[in-house]
Amino acid sequence: MTAAPAHAPLLEVRDLAKHYVARGATLRALDGVSFDLARGEVLGIVGESGCGKSTLGRTVLRLVDPTAGSIRFDGEDITALSRRDMVRRRRDMQIVFQDPFGSLNPRHRVAEIVGEPLEVHEVGDRAGRRARVAELLDLVGLASDAGGKYPHEFSGGQRQRIAIARALALEPKLLVADEPVSALDVSIQSQIINLLAELRQRLGLAMLFISHDLSVIRHVSDRIAVMYLGRIVEIGPAAALFDAPAHPYAQALLSAIPHTDPARRRERIILSGELPDPANPPPGCAFHTRCRQALPRCVGEAPLLAARRTATGTRMVACHLHDVG
Ligand code: ADP
Ligand code: MG
Repeated sequence: MTAAPAHAPLLEVRDLAKHYVARGATLRALDGVSFDLARGEVLGIVGESGCGKSTLGRTVLRLVDPTAGSIRFDGEDITALSRRDMVRRRRDMQIVFQDPFGSLNPRHRVAEIVGEPLEVHEVGDRAGRRARVAELLDLVGLASDAGGKYPHEFSGGQRQRIAIARALALEPKLLVADEPVSALDVSIQSQIINLLAELRQRLGLAMLFISHDLSVIRHVSDRIAVMYLGRIVEIGPAAALFDAPAHPYAQALLSAIPHTDPARRRERIILSGELPDPANPPPGCAFHTRCRQALPRCVGEAPLLAARRTATGTRMVACHLHDVG
């Protein structure tokens, strides 16, 4: 199979939906998500817990099967690939989870853990694999004797380095990082974020960087997608979106993090009300129950994600406030 031309997006996600049925109710964990990811690009995915971020990351990798929509990866439609074909395809698309301990086999030495993908895909001979493991441990900043130790001998941040080394073993083109630092001490978080940013530069890796914490993704992301109840409500270049978020939900999320420039500090917007039950989302714009600026039409008519002019350039926003003018 030949790869797509270099200018084509690495990932094309269209109208992706994932519905779960529980006790007769349908929960739309993903409800029509579309975006492209360029080669080597980092897209930050942000939103409150339960808005569908992990479901998006897992569905894109087909660890979860979509209910509707399509996923094109490196020129190939992978939406309906068989399990076996997906194993082959997943060489190029890897994931790092929030909890590095849960994802590392406690009975295996680090060298086995990091080398496992190489064995599964029968890459090189034994000596070649051993050399590659040493190279990977070095790449993620672990000492050369780390391979002989067990996961419990490491700190949380080091275990996440081990998980990253394993994810990179097969030189993937896409890395899904699902809350990669949320379980770590704040003092360690920036080390892992810096490592991912550095690896991305060195390896030309594209990433979906998932976090509920905007201050975590602001430095790694080229673009940011803000999700609310299974949908993208705003997506655009990270710096421009940070400077002038257009969707009221994005404005509220961003107002919670301090601006580096004190003169531009924003009023803190406290979101009223709880996140609605995702199995029973509000009609119209799902955010209208918590929106300070909701219009009558927001109650009855769901806004589409469309290109809108904002203070810092054109960007995709799903909000009726931006329909005017
Ligand atoms: P996030 O990662 O943004 O916190 P998730 O993608 O984990 O959100 O979950 C989105 C919604 O889908 C939540 O309401 C969650 O309870 C629901 N959900 C996720 N996985 C399942 C599942 N396997 N079965 C039923 N509901 C699920
Ligand atoms: Mg999650």
